[in-house]
Amino acid sequence: MTIATESAIRALPKLEMHIHLEGTFDPALVQQLADARGVALPRPLDDLYDLSDISAFLRTLDWVCSLVASAEEARLVAENFGRRCQQQGIVYTEVIINPTHWAALPYSELLPALAETFDAVETTYGVDVRLLPSILRQQSAAEAEALVRWMGESGIARIAGLSVDGNETAAGPTGERFARAYAMARELGFGVTAHAGESAGPDGVRDALDLLGVSRIDHGVRAIEEPTLTRRLVDEDITLNVCLRSNCSILYPTLEAHPFPRLLEAGVKMTLNTDDPVVLKTDLSEELAWIAGHFGFSLEDIAGFQHHAVDSAFCDSATKQALRERIDAALAG
Ligand SMILES: [Zn+2]
Repeated sequence: MTIATESAIRALPKLEMHIHLEGTFDPALVQQLADARGVALPRPLDDLYDLSDISAFLRTLDWVCSLVASAEEARLVAENFGRRCQQQGIVYTEVIINPTHWAALPYSELLPALAETFDAVETTYGVDVRLLPSILRQQSAAEAEALVRWMGESGIARIAGLSVDGNETAAGPTGERFARAYAMARELGFGVTAHAGESAGPDGVRDALDLLGVSRIDHGVRAIEEPTLTRRLVDEDITLNVCLRSNCSILYPTLEAHPFPRLLEAGVKMTLNTDDPVVLKTDLSEELAWIAGHFGFSLEDIAGFQHHAVDSAFCDSATKQALRERIDAALAG
């Protein structure tokens, strides 16, 4: 058993499966983009995001993304993301991108510019970045289906799957509205995931399974409130992409109040992620070190979560095998 120090965790090849590109702009990048447009920051740079007020936080997120108005600026964001991955030892990630935040650049320009830069990023920073375009929960069925149609027609190999995010409570149940878009995505060979069981209860998780046909759920932790649903996650081999620090900022008052240990005990397969790392002033290595310290996890335990990420990744089996070998070689070394 190896002690999971932060430096040992940083050196371990890792995967991140629940991260929003919108929440990864380093402060220096925000300043650079704002300066280029000659606009003033809405709040001080080191205190840009105020999580105590969700609507103000979302407005800031939209403001930051609206600074990206050209393919060239999108490339800066992808480059920044790749550099961050390298600093943390992330070798594979599926990043969620919700085009509705990026008001100044249509997704038909944004996503190709990102994908193209991630080709170069793979060489420069050693990280394989796949894209998960995401529906905003408040969008219409037609908007969701148009996004999926575009994903299929784009031919962009880095687009790995479809996601839905946004406030569940504010939008109400959306499973039926997006069922067709999800069926189209699955038919096109995309992986499908959905945010559920965070801002609303177990119903959203059940809808995601029954109506959207997902194999993973982002968050999903409130499934614990219903034992039969928790058991179903285990029986159907559904992976929860869990973000503990994020949940402890919004959903639960403390880590002690989080159902993570109970989900683990129930045998639910989980991955560990940051959600919006810059917003939460963290990164994956720091998050994992915090979790390992709290729950007494060894480096082997942390590697186990990386294997869950590989198992549930939306990529081909050769890529998965290579990732498994890298993780195991690092542990053995
Ligand atoms: Zn999320």
